[in-house]
Amino acid sequence: MSAFQNAMQQLDTAAGIAGIDPAIVDALHVPEHIRECDIPVAMDDRTQKVFKGYRVQYNSWRGPYKGGIRYHANVDLDEVKALAFWMTIKTAVVDIPMGGGKGGVIVNPKELSPGELERLTRGYAQAIKDFVGPTVDVPAPDVNTTPQIMTWFADEYCKLAPSPTCRAVVTGKPVSDGGSEGRDTATAQGGFYVLQAALEKIGLPIDNARVAIQGFGNAGSVMATLCHAAGMQIVAVSDSQGGVRHPESAAADEGSRTHYSGLDPSAILNFKKQYGTVVGFPETETVTNEQLLETDCDVLIPAALENVITKDNAARIKAKVALELANGPTTPEADAILQERGITVVPDVLANAGGVTVSYFEWDQNIKGEHWSEEQVFSKLKPIMTNNFFAIWKLAQERGTNLRTAAFVVALQRLASAKIGRS
Ligand code: NAD
Repeated sequence: MSAFQNAMQQLDTAAGIAGIDPAIVDALHVPEHIRECDIPVAMDDRTQKVFKGYRVQYNSWRGPYKGGIRYHANVDLDEVKALAFWMTIKTAVVDIPMGGGKGGVIVNPKELSPGELERLTRGYAQAIKDFVGPTVDVPAPDVNTTPQIMTWFADEYCKLAPSPTCRAVVTGKPVSDGGSEGRDTATAQGGFYVLQAALEKIGLPIDNARVAIQGFGNAGSVMATLCHAAGMQIVAVSDSQGGVRHPESAAADEGSRTHYSGLDPSAILNFKKQYGTVVGFPETETVTNEQLLETDCDVLIPAALENVITKDNAARIKAKVALELANGPTTPEADAILQERGITVVPDVLANAGGVTVSYFEWDQNIKGEHWSEEQVFSKLKPIMTNNFFAIWKLAQERGTNLRTAAFVVALQRLASAKIGRS
């Protein structure tokens, strides 16, 4: 099943439960606009290469399209459509006045020089300049796109369409260029607020709860730091090269719930900076990414790739809660198995929505000419994440669904009420 087919299946399941007008569901099966472009780039060796770019503007009933730009060799239209649809759901789940969109360019950015990357980004901005803008469509970073890339995009757009608020055309800019305080840690921070609320509902004390995290990048490493600071035990972490597990967790695997302080994320971060991987961190046992997912723990946090929890390993997941910081880490078959086994899955459309929420805060600050402190940003983020979690939890209990379907139901109800009364 393709990513977009999977997304449409999720839509149909939730729409049936929510009792949404079929005309509205039909409209949500189709993006409002698909923009495709060819981007010619002058390469350093004086040749010219043409890169394929997309911008899918999925839905704008609740506000301007919002969603990142992905630079990756495997980008394709089906994936961009699915991601743009999920952004439509995500912005509605956290109830920010934005719609859903996503962009992508087929490129391996690691093969480009900084100059080529800048020219590609400026070329992409030129190609879609008529379709984006602070009140129309507001892109952001995604896989392989950075605050610097957002600055180049905003710069090019403002040259072509100057206005006092033109830099609000993208979010995820560096703080020195109108970016928001806290944006770099917002995804994990939002996920952490939701995790606290989920543990409260499940009745699992946060103190000493054992956590395994797949992916030690922006989202995963910050999450590890927040969990550690809250007194949780980091049992295992991993990156693309493999994982490391606390040696004493082996005893826990055999059933004896011993207390140990767990891995120290700041020491691992330093180690990874030096050696490029978490593997080899002193006094740990090396595990594969598959073993990490099956580690005995209370909370499993996939924070790397999609489709890692599948029908092949779902029966062996030992965690009580899986918090999806990554987008799409659980396949639909695995979702059903985890639900049957009573494992609570906190879905990506809520768990990682702190990032887009603080992106919206950045846009809001740019439009109003304000600059909020990190404390102000997080004091606005926390109630958004926890109140929406509790509403979704309540609905899931009432309807007997999992949290993913409940989150989709909440989002669809908000989308439908935005649509009603419009043409
Ligand atoms: P990142 O590139 O900073 O980190 C990704 C991490 O995953 C790295 O540690 C990398 O080594 C690891 N990884 C890569 N391939 C792997 C593999 N095969 N097995 C195990 N680990 C592997 O990316 P990020 O920004 O932390 O994003 C991670 C996930 O979170 C993605 O799914 C992304 O879509 C999602 N997400 C991120 C944000 C955000 O604001 N950063 C927002 C929403 C969702």
